[in-house]
Amino acid sequence: MSALQDQIAIVTGASRGIGRAISLSLAQAGARVIACARDEGKLAAVMSEAKDAGASGEIIPYKLDVTIRVDIDAAVEHVAKTYERVDILVNNAGITRDGLLMNMEDDQFDDVVRTNLNSVFWLTRAVSRLMVRARRGRIINISSISGIMGNPGQVNYAASKAAVVGLSKSTAKELAKRGITCNVVAPGFIDTEMTEKLSEDVKKACKTMIPLRRFGESAEVASMVAFLAGPGASYITGQVIVVDGGLCM
Ligand code: NDP
Repeated sequence: MSALQDQIAIVTGASRGIGRAISLSLAQAGARVIACARDEGKLAAVMSEAKDAGASGEIIPYKLDVTIRVDIDAAVEHVAKTYERVDILVNNAGITRDGLLMNMEDDQFDDVVRTNLNSVFWLTRAVSRLMVRARRGRIINISSISGIMGNPGQVNYAASKAAVVGLSKSTAKELAKRGITCNVVAPGFIDTEMTEKLSEDVKKACKTMIPLRRFGESAEVASMVAFLAGPGASYITGQVIVVDGGLCM
């Protein structure tokens, strides 16, 4: 039997990049993945990809904007009614709106915090109620090494990602006695649309600082998430696992 056979997973930001890879890898391991994002066309493509690859689980597209709290509550209610439980929650949706501190506008800060942090609070709160009732669950939140090391031009993003670490450790401590774990995966530079925006010069400079001398692949983050969701990680909670080619050490 596959490691996550028939488990119900919710993954946000599943339409591309790291979230797409996480959804595919959980579906390969047997999970039924409620794949959330705003772009329904891309979600449908991820669903077909899992089918074509012969995954033992499946991808179920769900259109969701994670900045809208009532829509998050409605999504979790829908999943609870349809599947009766959530075994795995992966809070992956995230954005950047970079700018130097002195020039950063309030909405640039607020948008990033709402997408990267408030959504994690809203979804974790809603899903934890189901997990507590079932006395089991795995919560995996995607942060960033930017939240650990800081990064020029990213006070908004770094603040949101550092806060996700605090939120996750507090969640881990609150929910451990109910059989629920909560861990963080903090990627370094990963090849996705998010890092495509960087200039070639910046990318080159970054690579010289990374001991493994390259950007990571989305699948290399997804494999850590699948591990944390699986039976091998049953005694791991409150941890921040860095997946960055050695940059942050
Ligand atoms: P991408 O920009 O490639 O993908 C972002 C995903 O988030 C998309 O699926 C997008 O879907 C979704 N998303 C964004 N805003 C919303 C919203 N309001 N509602 C619902 N979904 C939303 O990013 P990555 O795959 O690179 O990043 C994934 C996560 O990993 C993020 O949290 C990011 O901060 C983190 N990370 C990435 C790193 C990297 O180097 N790439 C490094 C460290 C951390 P849609 O537009 O369809 O709604």
